Amino acid sequence: MAYDPNNIFARILRGEIPCKKVYEDAHVLAFHDIRPQTRVHILVIPKGSYASMDDFSAKASEAEIAALFRAVGKIARDEGVAESGYRILANAGADANQEVPHLHIHIFGGQPLGPMIRPPK
Ligand code: AMP
Repeated sequence: MAYDPNNIFARILRGEIPCKKVYEDAHVLAFHDIRPQTRVHILVIPKGSYASMDDFSAKASEAEIAALFRAVGKIARDEGVAESGYRILANAGADANQEVPHLHIHIFGGQPLGPMIRPPK
């Protein structure tokens, strides 16, 4: 998947459209999902231009990779779901219905989350 510099998360990173920020550091931005599917639903994104986890895992620096995963853990703790439980999810590509072509990790929590995945029809 080619990186589209006009995707919605690239525009958020450039400050062209607003977000409800929950965390930021040199490599990472995190904000509330605009259409939350659970009581806690946060998106954690790298600031670098990576289309998906595949792209990120192949090209990102050690510092970027460490920052993203440390941020996920910190946000889960800060949002109060580390104890009660939460789920992280990163859709990649067509079969996963990835809508926004900038890597994002969903953090879902704040309630029982049900089965891990809906069985295919
Ligand atoms: P995915 O299907 O994994 O690509 O998820 C994309 C997510 O981005 C969806 O949960 C959308 O609700 C969310 N989203 C789309 N636009 C925005 C936005 N402007 N601010 C916050 N979240 C957004």
